[in-house]
Amino acid sequence: MKYRELGNTGLVVSEVGLGCEGMIGATPDLVKELVTSALDCGMNFFDLFCAEPDVRSNLGNCLKGRRDKVFIQGHIGACWQNSQYLRTRDEALVPAGFEDLLKRLDTDYLDIGMIHYVDNDADFDTVFGGWMIDYVLELKKAGRIRHTGMSSHNPEMALKAAETGLIDVLLFSVNPCYDLQPPREDFDEVWTPRNYEQPLTNIDPVRDQLYKTCEAKGVGIVVMKAFGGGDLLSDKWSPFGRAMKPEHCIHYALTRPAAACVVGGFRSAEEVLKAGRYSDLTDQERDYAPFLKDLPLHSYKGKCIYCGHCAPCPVGINIAMVNKFHDLALVQGSVPDSVRSHYELLEHHAGECIACGQCLENCPFEVPIIQKMAEAAETFGR
Ligand code: SF4
Ligand code: SF4
Repeated sequence: MKYRELGNTGLVVSEVGLGCEGMIGATPDLVKELVTSALDCGMNFFDLFCAEPDVRSNLGNCLKGRRDKVFIQGHIGACWQNSQYLRTRDEALVPAGFEDLLKRLDTDYLDIGMIHYVDNDADFDTVFGGWMIDYVLELKKAGRIRHTGMSSHNPEMALKAAETGLIDVLLFSVNPCYDLQPPREDFDEVWTPRNYEQPLTNIDPVRDQLYKTCEAKGVGIVVMKAFGGGDLLSDKWSPFGRAMKPEHCIHYALTRPAAACVVGGFRSAEEVLKAGRYSDLTDQERDYAPFLKDLPLHSYKGKCIYCGHCAPCPVGINIAMVNKFHDLALVQGSVPDSVRSHYELLEHHAGECIACGQCLENCPFEVPIIQKMAEAAETFGR
């Protein structure tokens, strides 16, 4: 397992982590199996959105004596009422739901207190214009949550949250299918077949801006729905009309700027261990570019997706990184010091491009790389 820094939190998290979907309705033994397999393969990041008391208690029991081995991302606003899950902003319910979570997990803090999902403007205003954000910030001040977070399926809401400066981590749905779709308040629309009937080209600009803004502001992204709820892994259900491999989905998500960890709702130890092997695969094994390149109706033409396929460059320019840093600078309108220093640290710079064209033959997405190198050299001055 490899590990990455999660934004500016200081947390160094495993590239793949454990979600809790597979724990819903599971026996305590199965939960134990999932947790043990996750820890065995080096996962140190657990996301718990569930309000189900048994899921919370089962996980708490599994973590007894090893709380310090994992970072727990728990959701605030996911409550249990009348034996049912309830997403709520009710001041009478949310704090009680948080206390219940800590008690059942047998811990006195969460590493990330994640405001449970905000997908539309009205809810955003309720959360950030009312008592709830104050409550979450108070929890952070008191050390009961170490970092703040917000989950969303809507890139516009996620972007707004990142721009508040109040949110340290976003839990966001990332996969190549969603990335082609414009922001929608109704998350189910992202998966509606009619929205894939027309040819779709390139990453939606708001999603693109979200990733770059998070990277620039040091907001870490934890990825959910990397497999599209499993649909992307199926020839029958994938909107692409053919299945992706799990490692391709994980790698796609982790090559978005600011993405640090993919959490999966694994349902068996086998699934956990399979995903946990991602970090050990070769670049070739997890390369999703050939899959995306050959899609019949969808295209990423002309847009760098940082896949790295264009290497090697005879001069040694890391083209994907140059493009990434340049895009980060463009999204901010000027070159931030942090981006400039990362660019400076590259061994070779865009200005060294000799326009040999070798990379053009290797790029599956017809990115005008020579032009891009010239633009980056202009922006960074070398
Ligand atoms: S230029 Fe093309 S091959 Fe290179 S990283 Fe970008 S998309 Fe991939
Ligand atoms: S065209 Fe420039 S960036 Fe591309 S391989 Fe040649 S030297 Fe490298």
